[in-house]
Amino acid sequence: MPEPVPSTSSTMIRTRFAPSPTGHLHVGGARTALFCWAFSRGLDGRFLLRIEDTDQKRSSIESGLGFCEDLEWLGIDWDEGPVHNGHGGGDTGPYFQSERLAIYAEHLLRLLEDGKAYYAFETPEELAAGRKAAREAKKPYKYDRAALGLDQETIDTWIAEGRPHVVRFKVPDGPVNISDIVLGDVVVPSGELEDFIIQKADGFPTYHFAVVVDDALMEVSHVIRGQEHLNNTAKHIVLQDALGFDRPIYAHLSLIFNPDGSKMSKRDKDKAIRAAVVEQGVESPPILSDGAELISEDEWARWKRSKDVQLPQAQAALLAEHLGVDLPEIDVEDFKRAGYLPGVLINYLSLLGWSPGNDIEQFDAAFLVKSFSLDRVLKSPAKFDRAKLLAFNQDAIQAMSGEEFLKELTEFCRREVPEFIDAMTPGQFSMFAESNHPRCRTLLEPIRSGGFFLQDDAEVQWQMSKPVRKALLNGETCGFDHLVNLLPLLEGLSEWSREQLETAVDGYAAEHAEGKVGKVAQPLRVAVSGGTVSPPIYDTLAILGRESVLCRIQRCLDARQSLSSTS
Ligand code: GLU
Repeated sequence: MPEPVPSTSSTMIRTRFAPSPTGHLHVGGARTALFCWAFSRGLDGRFLLRIEDTDQKRSSIESGLGFCEDLEWLGIDWDEGPVHNGHGGGDTGPYFQSERLAIYAEHLLRLLEDGKAYYAFETPEELAAGRKAAREAKKPYKYDRAALGLDQETIDTWIAEGRPHVVRFKVPDGPVNISDIVLGDVVVPSGELEDFIIQKADGFPTYHFAVVVDDALMEVSHVIRGQEHLNNTAKHIVLQDALGFDRPIYAHLSLIFNPDGSKMSKRDKDKAIRAAVVEQGVESPPILSDGAELISEDEWARWKRSKDVQLPQAQAALLAEHLGVDLPEIDVEDFKRAGYLPGVLINYLSLLGWSPGNDIEQFDAAFLVKSFSLDRVLKSPAKFDRAKLLAFNQDAIQAMSGEEFLKELTEFCRREVPEFIDAMTPGQFSMFAESNHPRCRTLLEPIRSGGFFLQDDAEVQWQMSKPVRKALLNGETCGFDHLVNLLPLLEGLSEWSREQLETAVDGYAAEHAEGKVGKVAQPLRVAVSGGTVSPPIYDTLAILGRESVLCRIQRCLDARQSLSSTS
């Protein structure tokens, strides 16, 4: 379908991302922001960020800032919007809706004066009773326009008395035609819309009203947003017509699904925890190791009773850790913490409902900007394939030079786990990076499997799992015996370097283990790390340093008797 020419006064492409600051930027929102950004960048347009904070109870400054930071991390920079880290500002601000109340009031007054909107005084209880009656009569509920019957005197008196009221928009008769670049033409039949509220009892505009005024005054040419807003678009169109605003061009993006066909949502985290709770038969609220109650009895009961109840992020993370569950990443921040690269996430998100064609799948932001077009956006739901994202991340990490990887891993550690990098000398850390690079899929993986590097030597414990038993107890000369022999050998090394360690251990294996280095390396690995996973053994020993290695081997040998008898 050819792209229609924008109907706004200027022909410049102007897109906006308009999050409500009530939580975190999740992948769906990030995909919307990305498409808006790529579309405007590719056509020399402008990309705006507007913070829709009209829901006073649910909005927070921290959440708004979080959105700014996550977008910046992804490399999605805005030309106009909140001023943050040296960008933003612009002529059509302010860009926080809570700072635009006078603007909305002015336009609202216009509608009231033209008889296109009216005051309504029903209490929430009265409205609820109306909804209940409709439900019982099995009819769809629609506001009955009772307030239209009030005379001006009553209205003036009630307002003067301070009686709580809202302002409703008088929806005109007739179908609403939505023309959408992705979905084609959609018709909302006459009579479907009720007289919806445009100003709430707290004096704030509703989302519908603010969005329409802002899109017009900010000269937004294209509204690109998630398909969950399609129903809202009909309301926006009738409002635009009433206010005499041009219609922007609409493009509604498909929903994002999990591979199992469920809608991807922030509830997926709770879903994973619920599954573990059922599987592990957890009945009462878990108690942390320090004796603290993780969640109160009441909260626990409420959460267990309804799948709609979500735990706060921090609590969910603690509970997940306690139950040993990996929470699925949903928010941009989750992916950032899990060691994904922003360029990879952008690449992957862009494929959720769009593709550049010619089987091209892996590309950078510059390519995306150059190739992006709305006519290649699909209307069918997109599937979020975590395995593919992980493979993309791995490819990107493997394509890095050693130097680049060290830089990325350093930045990641400084940001997410400073205690890890602080515990090593620069030399140790660069060896750690180099030895982990070849197997690394995310920046977090080496940190996760490298926890033993940070332990005090006296804290290393040996869990006698099957592979640990095998490494220490099996064979004619068992692992413990090899350790007994290796200890003085390593002690005697003149220099604690990777090369010397390799020569010594290889030489020992040639003589005492038929050249099978693994038979020697694995007990060493277990002795120094407590488990069977570590970077290559010579690197591991070199990074840990002479003192730690010798101490850990000695401790492991000291524990030989009790470990050998543990089943
Ligand atoms: N503030 C709305 C939201 O966060 C989006 C508004 C829009 O894109 O029109 O869902």
